[in-house]
Amino acid sequence: MQIQTGSNSSKNRAENRALVLRHLATRGAISRIELSQLMGLTKMTLSNITQELINEGLLVETKKSVALSSVGRKPILLDFSPNSPCAAGVWLSRRYLRGILCDLRGQTIYECKEETLSKETNETLKKKVAEFSRRLTDAAAQFGRPLWGLGISTIGPLDVQNGILLDPHNFFGVENFPIRQIAQEATGLTVVVENEMHASAIAEQLYGSAGDNFLYIGVSTGIGAGIITNGRLFAGSGGFGGEVGHISVDQNGPLCTCGQRGCLELYAGILRLTAAINEACGLSARSIKEAIAQSQGDPRAEAVLTEVARRIGDALCTAANLLDPERIVLGHHAFFFPDEMLKRIEGRLNSSLVFRSRKKIPVVRSQFDDQAALVGAATLIFERIFRAELLPEDVTTAKAE
Ligand SMILES: [Zn+2]
Repeated sequence: MQIQTGSNSSKNRAENRALVLRHLATRGAISRIELSQLMGLTKMTLSNITQELINEGLLVETKKSVALSSVGRKPILLDFSPNSPCAAGVWLSRRYLRGILCDLRGQTIYECKEETLSKETNETLKKKVAEFSRRLTDAAAQFGRPLWGLGISTIGPLDVQNGILLDPHNFFGVENFPIRQIAQEATGLTVVVENEMHASAIAEQLYGSAGDNFLYIGVSTGIGAGIITNGRLFAGSGGFGGEVGHISVDQNGPLCTCGQRGCLELYAGILRLTAAINEACGLSARSIKEAIAQSQGDPRAEAVLTEVARRIGDALCTAANLLDPERIVLGHHAFFFPDEMLKRIEGRLNSSLVFRSRKKIPVVRSQFDDQAALVGAATLIFERIFRAELLPEDVTTAKAE
């Protein structure tokens, strides 16, 4: 994790406060001594910061204590107060709206029943997003938790600066959809919008164990990546980076909507893959999870998965040669890929990596099952809070009455 140490200078008060929150969020209850050592702050500076946070009701001293054998004392630990603020998250996928409230540790406090999308227009979708966002603020109020903001993770392409969903393929013809403004007007909250793959990667980085240099690969109708380098999201100059689904894995393959031939998602996109298993095995599964469960042990399904694993491995090898990640995290529907398929992807990727004699890149599953984009939505708020890019005193909170 990057940015571990603090500063004794008073002008960096906001950064130090943010860092205390981050350490508590990612490490659990912790003593003042441990915190001051982690942050490189004097005990006095650290105590001033934590006292402020206690006075504001964010932190509490816990009754739990740990023995410090060297000095024989039992220091009091600091922890988040039971009614510390939470963040709301909304995930707009091609077929559903999902909603969540998370605490500062990324734990789920509440989840909305998903809302199925069909035949939406800009107007009907606006109504659904607004109602859905309000449901989350109502829930936070019921739990007595202040809200620090609402994060939205969504399909792309996206104008991240202005929070506008531009012209997504295959999405009812909805375009130029000002999703941030809609959620802001509905709730009065600070709203942050990000591509769903990027948000998923941020959740893995902050609350998972993926490290500071990895690729999150989300397999859905399309296939996208969230690239984390040196602990930060790399989204590209326009926020459009990570389109691994459009790496060509067969120059003579079918034509893709992007104009190239043989793009990865034409073979490994979840609808294509489900259809291929159904066809090979005479099934009528409606999801990849179902298709894999129903075709278990069937050599015809195995042949389909082996072929797709080879193509995914090839595309990931191209991405890995370019970015040299520590690991690759497979998420979204790829969470349901069988172990054997993950091994095949990892084997193929590592067999043709340019620097294969020097390192091996593990391929692992998301720590959030197929829901990284949902946790990731709420995480968008905390990530900014922990970097002091968004200050608790500046967010427009919807405080519980
Ligand atoms: Zn393409």
